[in-house]
Amino acid sequence: MGTNQKLKQINIGDCNWTNGFWADKFKLCEEVMVPYMGDVLCGDIGHALNNFKIAAGEKEGEHKGMFWHDGDFYKFMEAKTYVYAYSKNESLLKELDDYIDLLSRAQEDDGYLQTQIQLRDDADRYENRKYHEMYNSGHLFISACTHYKVTGQRNFLDLAIKHADLMYTIFMPDTKHYGRFGFNQTQIMGLVELYRVTQDERYLNLAEKFINNRGKYEIKHDSTTVGYPIGDMVQERTPLRISEEAVGHAVLALYYYAGAADVYAETGETALIEALDRLWLNVTDKKMYVTGAVGQAHYGASTNLDMIEEGFIDAYMMPNMTAYNETCANLCNAMFSYRMLNIHGEAKYADIIELVLYNSGLSGISVGGKEYFYANPLRMVNNSRNYDAHADVTETPDRQPYLDCFCCPPNLVRTIAKVSGWSYSVTDNGVSVNLYGSNTLNTQLADGSTIKLSQQTEYPWDGKITITIDECKNEAFDIKMRIPGWAEKASLSVNGEKIKTKPVSGTFETLSREWKKGDVITLKLPMGIKLMEGHPRIEEVRNQVAIKRGPIVYCIESPDLPLDTSVLEVYFNGNSKLKAVHKPDFLGGVTVVEGEFLLRKDNKQGMYRSIDKPNLETHQTQFVPYFAWSNRGQAEMTVFMPVVWS
Ligand SMILES: [Zn+2]
Repeated sequence: MGTNQKLKQINIGDCNWTNGFWADKFKLCEEVMVPYMGDVLCGDIGHALNNFKIAAGEKEGEHKGMFWHDGDFYKFMEAKTYVYAYSKNESLLKELDDYIDLLSRAQEDDGYLQTQIQLRDDADRYENRKYHEMYNSGHLFISACTHYKVTGQRNFLDLAIKHADLMYTIFMPDTKHYGRFGFNQTQIMGLVELYRVTQDERYLNLAEKFINNRGKYEIKHDSTTVGYPIGDMVQERTPLRISEEAVGHAVLALYYYAGAADVYAETGETALIEALDRLWLNVTDKKMYVTGAVGQAHYGASTNLDMIEEGFIDAYMMPNMTAYNETCANLCNAMFSYRMLNIHGEAKYADIIELVLYNSGLSGISVGGKEYFYANPLRMVNNSRNYDAHADVTETPDRQPYLDCFCCPPNLVRTIAKVSGWSYSVTDNGVSVNLYGSNTLNTQLADGSTIKLSQQTEYPWDGKITITIDECKNEAFDIKMRIPGWAEKASLSVNGEKIKTKPVSGTFETLSREWKKGDVITLKLPMGIKLMEGHPRIEEVRNQVAIKRGPIVYCIESPDLPLDTSVLEVYFNGNSKLKAVHKPDFLGGVTVVEGEFLLRKDNKQGMYRSIDKPNLETHQTQFVPYFAWSNRGQAEMTVFMPVVWS
């Protein structure tokens, strides 16, 4: 790992969920999400495996799927690799080997492997960035490196190296044709990962080259760019090192920033990290939803007036109903934050990871594990939008069993499969506890000594977390406990004795001592129910509130409203007593918030109408976690509600 990081990633497999929220999600991932996705992608609906078979000359047919379909298959392979890492189910390894054998037969002699080009007559290699070759390559590298780290086998890695070596010969020299190449630049993360695994510096240099090229060329359409908007859409108007504002397609931007963070971790270049600090703050403090989601608009313009798609618009311009919030973009927000967490060692980055995971990340998949959301708006109103207008069907009123544009589902499933790896990091002399959930940790400290911990908690439904030391060295070392930004008045004790200082929310509380087997750390996070409002400049939520408890954002949806009621008629009673009630058999096991809302029946028509003091009826209801909405049939839903205080 890079030397310019305060925290170091633990190895895949070091932390295992044991019970509770994430153990349940991992089990569902292993038993339903990954097998179901395999059936889809390896069958005729998904057609991803077919594309490789046709490219290998072993099947008749045409390429089907988006240009980035190969990359989405590599993400699925990565998810399967993580499930193997934690389950040790040998049949998964065999299936992966079969895919890899097929990939090697589909790969051309010089290392090229892109079925969307190999199988189409109308496109040539590296002709136009719209064909997403860099995206597919990036996911090929990441998936292959993961496979090598987990299995020690070189079959996938060698194939990736052959491909990367071809890319190096093409993209390392300065040429006008390739200067602006790369649309969704996953290859930057992938190349750094390949460098870390192989120690071949060419890959790091090439990764850096892609950053250096961005913003260097005149912004005008040419044969390599037609097909999508240019300029801010692909972060090529302003060189990264002098960027002040997150712009353009949200997934493209955040993969790019995450890749640049990986490059910084290896090179330590000040200008790079200062730019990334500004961009992270701009995203999370000016352009992010209360759910951690990003990408406010399907279509819009940047502040430089470049057309953009699926991405960032102005600061504080946060529409609820038309928010795009692609699952991938939300997950990228967590991926970028995870890199910043390890670089800076500050708890605020883990707060964002957690916010995304429990809200705008998990909302991308149904409680059953087989239906997907691509867009994750904060309000859904029936018959308010013409969904057919978007031929690519990325905005849907309910989750779908298959999406033609399949980038989000495997991105989310691989994240669920691997997230235990994010929950701890290794520090200079100890560990940091980044995310909470019942698990066991068995890893090495920086000095090579073994540490074993077990964590027990009902988090995120309950705020009590205990960590027991099972094995450690004799000398003193640190255990850094994250006190979430929302957790004022947390209490922290060791072996029943409260620590002397008051834990500060939004920081890591460092417990430094000579630990011994059997020592117990107890953290109690206050799980009070809070009402959240937006910055007054967010016009879309003025005088509205959202409900939040711990890291979980709540919403109200049709099944919890009287029949024939719209969420547009719902007001929140600011004086309502709210109560958290755990329901183990509801929506996969969630804590709901019970309380009152006010219903305003209004039959007036027209865009503007006169108003007298309305009659508001009081009703009892339950608010459900946002991530679990739309699991009870097609529904209306809103996170923010207009508030009435008496
Ligand atoms: Zn996506």
